[in-house]
Amino acid sequence: MNVDKKRFRLLIKGTVQGVGFRPFVYNLATSLGAKGFVLNNADGVTIEIENVDIEKFIYLLKAKKPPLSEIEDITIKTLDWFGFEDFKIEESTIFGDKTPSVPPDMGICEDCLKEFNNPSDRRYKYPFINCTNCGPRYSIVLDIPYDRKNTTMNVFEMCEDCKKEYEDKTNRRFHAEAISCPNCGPIYWYEKNGNIYKENIFELMAKDLKDSKIIALKGLGGFHLICNALDEKAVRTLRERKKRSSKPFAVMFKSLEEALKYLEPTEDEIKPLTSIQKPIVLIKRKSPYFEEACKGLSSVGAFLAYTGIHLRLFDFIDFPIIATSGNISDTPICKDNDKAKSKLKDIADGFFMHNRDIKRPVDDSVIKLIDDDVSIIRLARSYAPKPIYINTHAKAISLGMGAFLKSTISIFKNNTIILSPHIGDLESIDTIEHYKNTLEDFLRFYDVKPDIVVCDMHPNFFSSIYAKSIFSNVISLQHHKAHILSVIAENNISLDQEILGIAWDGTGYGEDGTIWGGEFFIGDAYNLKRAFYIKPYKLIGNEKAIKDPRRIVLSFLFELLKEKAYKHPLIEKLHFEEKELKTLYKMWENDTNTTKTSSMGRLFDMVAYLMGLTDVIDYEAKGAMMVEDRYIDSKEYYDFNISNNEIIISFEDILGEKEIDKMASKFINMLFEIIVSIIKLLKAKNVVVSGGVFYNRPLMRKLKAIDGINLFYNKKIPTGDGGISVGQAFYGGILC
Ligand SMILES: [Zn+2]
Ligand SMILES: [Zn+2]
Repeated sequence: MNVDKKRFRLLIKGTVQGVGFRPFVYNLATSLGAKGFVLNNADGVTIEIENVDIEKFIYLLKAKKPPLSEIEDITIKTLDWFGFEDFKIEESTIFGDKTPSVPPDMGICEDCLKEFNNPSDRRYKYPFINCTNCGPRYSIVLDIPYDRKNTTMNVFEMCEDCKKEYEDKTNRRFHAEAISCPNCGPIYWYEKNGNIYKENIFELMAKDLKDSKIIALKGLGGFHLICNALDEKAVRTLRERKKRSSKPFAVMFKSLEEALKYLEPTEDEIKPLTSIQKPIVLIKRKSPYFEEACKGLSSVGAFLAYTGIHLRLFDFIDFPIIATSGNISDTPICKDNDKAKSKLKDIADGFFMHNRDIKRPVDDSVIKLIDDDVSIIRLARSYAPKPIYINTHAKAISLGMGAFLKSTISIFKNNTIILSPHIGDLESIDTIEHYKNTLEDFLRFYDVKPDIVVCDMHPNFFSSIYAKSIFSNVISLQHHKAHILSVIAENNISLDQEILGIAWDGTGYGEDGTIWGGEFFIGDAYNLKRAFYIKPYKLIGNEKAIKDPRRIVLSFLFELLKEKAYKHPLIEKLHFEEKELKTLYKMWENDTNTTKTSSMGRLFDMVAYLMGLTDVIDYEAKGAMMVEDRYIDSKEYYDFNISNNEIIISFEDILGEKEIDKMASKFINMLFEIIVSIIKLLKAKNVVVSGGVFYNRPLMRKLKAIDGINLFYNKKIPTGDGGISVGQAFYGGILC
């Protein structure tokens, strides 16, 4: 063995806390006869080690690391021999560091699953089974450091057996803060029609589900509303009661084997579906399943049972279940027993509850695959709080406040940006409350006072108003620039690198007071200039035009034909009354309650409408999802030209299209051709794309295939508005 009389200090960055990394290091070091210690520090994990072949140690560290951990960087320092007597796991407070990260909640791991199914294990079929690698964490933390006494599990006294496991450094439940067993853990029950059932609970629920009933089920990060996914009547009832007419529902399956009966996943989709994170993955469904859940979309949001509670239920049913956030329309997922009972009383027929309190709600994460690239739609359970390691050191502690839709917050300090889980659209009182709490938690957990706070430029967003009301050092950053900066940050693009940034989405307040959404920027991280944009058109009635795509059609008809538009064959199909039509024309002409926009999202809505896919946009990105769904491989595209800074699309062709089936392809191909033209025009080499439009699979595939450019896009964080706070925090951190 090649052992020097040296001491080595290893600083390891990455996802190395709350994932069983320290016990792993302990076991590895002791198996090699090494001496020293391991501890959590503010940036990751520190190891000091002697009496070891350091190359072999590092090789094994990388090769055998715990499944959830991710090593991003190891720095090694050689120091003088110290003469440690043994190898220890030191408490993380040894240097007075606060525990820097609170790990996200995690789906059940393979080891726990094995125990769950092993009749001789003491946690056989135990609904609350968890370990260092899995189970509740972020959702149950009361304070830091992340320790049993600072979680909502502190009211449950560990039994002797659990205590032994918890204190044994070699045990896989060493410091599993949520550890419990049937003897000492939470209790659970089922409530229905004023009765409380404490026995045969899962059998009772199974029977109710078979009878088309809807159940509110408290799980890991909140309540789900569940029903039999194969029972169209039950799903329709859920839609009616939840007042959710067409937004898709997610479907939970017992196992991959079960899922394959109903879905046609690619190999790339199976990987995350079966991963420990257990996100919701958008996967092509087999016909005729889940029509009512998907409402016209060919993919379904699918996920596998991820807690013992779900698995126990699946022991008694042989069908997949709808599992949608337990809330009313778009408010946060319910987490408290009493609140759920009052809020969901008109939706659920029965309530499965337990007495492990959820401190903060955590939604399920949602992803889609574009070939082998993961595209994150909602970053929440299992992924967030999400640390993103940045090559640039923050000049000051910076806080990003997010935007309005799918809001999140981010903190940039030293070399890390921490992104919060998905909070929601800042519309309802409940979501705003959740937003305030998340902000407070983050500042406390990470012990930061921001030197600079960056909010959206929109003066009326709650996030902007709130920032200015509680902080004095607030600057604003244009929405689409924040999108571009989020990509620069996570891809570690040099700050002075000239880029072409393309930010396309539905809505973002522009520097000129209009609504932007089809933007091209040139410049670098410090200074992005709007270079090209979709020629602005009028949103007749603003908010109303976002829900009613007919108004977008009308806007272009008026622009092309003025009052002669009344004679256009499309007018009849729009079913406006004559009086209304005249009012809308006046609004268009006089800019009454009508703002100009370069939004790309609204164009998708219009195409979806013209294709007969939907009459109303009743959830975000509906138009874009439906149009993408109808894409067929072809080379045809709608004409456009570029004049000065404006991209002028030939709406005459779109509005006059006779071959409706081709519209989706021709429209998406046109978007690609527009980008190619601008790249050629500017001779751009480094191209950054961000914004909700880039969830579009055919468009992204085409962009990735362009020769001779470096294409950068969001990979670890949402390309939609959930990633905005990262761009904001990054900007604040590089600016000062
Ligand atoms: Zn586990
Ligand atoms: Zn126990």
